[in-house]
Amino acid sequence: MVNFNKPYLTGLETDYIKRAVRSGKISGNGLFTKKCQQFFEERYGFRKCLLTTSCTDALEMAAILTGVGSGDEVIVPSYTFVSSALAFVRQGAKIVFCDSYRDNPNIDPTEIERLVTPRTKVIVPVHYAGVACDMDAIMDIANRYNLFVVEDAAQAIDSFYTGRDGVRRPLGSIGHLAAFSFHETKNIISGEGGMLVVNDPRFIRRAEIIWEKGTNRAEFFRGEVNKYGWVDTGSSFLPSEIVAAFLWAQLENLNEIQAKRRSIWEFYREHLSPFAARRSFALPDIPIYATNNAHMFYLVFSDLAQRSDFIAAMKARDVQCVFHYLSLHSSPFYADKHDGRTLPNCDRFANCLVRLPLFYELDPEIVMRAASEVLS
Ligand SMILES: *Cc1c(COP(=O)(O)O)cnc(C)c1O
Repeated sequence: MVNFNKPYLTGLETDYIKRAVRSGKISGNGLFTKKCQQFFEERYGFRKCLLTTSCTDALEMAAILTGVGSGDEVIVPSYTFVSSALAFVRQGAKIVFCDSYRDNPNIDPTEIERLVTPRTKVIVPVHYAGVACDMDAIMDIANRYNLFVVEDAAQAIDSFYTGRDGVRRPLGSIGHLAAFSFHETKNIISGEGGMLVVNDPRFIRRAEIIWEKGTNRAEFFRGEVNKYGWVDTGSSFLPSEIVAAFLWAQLENLNEIQAKRRSIWEFYREHLSPFAARRSFALPDIPIYATNNAHMFYLVFSDLAQRSDFIAAMKARDVQCVFHYLSLHSSPFYADKHDGRTLPNCDRFANCLVRLPLFYELDPEIVMRAASEVLS
């Protein structure tokens, strides 16, 4: 059986965990945490990085930082993971779900602008499959209506957006805040894990406090204050050094991991393109302004029946292909709070999109052999 995902280990994870354990410091914000955060700050120019126990936690921190509460509205795509919306719901905000483009699961900025009201406070673009949303259009709306932008960059490590000014910027560096995931299904992993990126300097001090249970402990350890105490809201958002040590082993191999994933992705694209035209399904859409970080390879069929047939036929050939999100606006938790608008593009991706296995140790020829039989 070829599974949909298999977490890749570089081999050094347990060595670094041993080192963390031997150092005698295994709680958070130690040497490995700092190494990981510095890696991202230097490589991608993120203003301030804070490791978290998950991307969900990073989104919760972002929701607290934006100050949203009851009566405020947050615009979120409906075709996304629960956490993109849930983090803001926990602060009491109302989610206004936005549709995807027709040909791309990402949030459609033309739709966003129609949904802005005087109560709107935040837009949450989700870079689906690590492919950039149109950030110029989104930042332009945010600037005109004075909104915060929180990038859900859970899938978007090492991916870029080229703006109208011709400058190529890393995803996660454009919004006021951004959240990454190192869940075992992502490109770079630590089991569970995530990171908050603070690009707007106004949020840095408070982000550190929220990260450390509402205390100014980080300032204390830098010698900036002579005692620390409870100064704000917060939670225990920081991961232990054991998790950071694991993550460091992955980050050291980021280039190699990305190169391997890209080669598998390109293999799929090359070999599936001829079938796509004949069998009328779509391959991943990479707009001209976006790069591909090979997080995901998907097909979009014309209807649910065709997708179900494909999944079943691949399974019969021992290859596990999986569909993805169910529309959040019609979820059991949010359907009665949604304003009733239909989101047809989102529903189409929920019904018609299927993901192929994609992981470091995969031999894509095995998958392709099965796919050729199923699709011919
Ligand atoms: C994986 C994912 C998350 C959640 O990440 P965790 O680290 O598991 O909390 C949130 N948003 C998107 C778009 C994701 O793909």
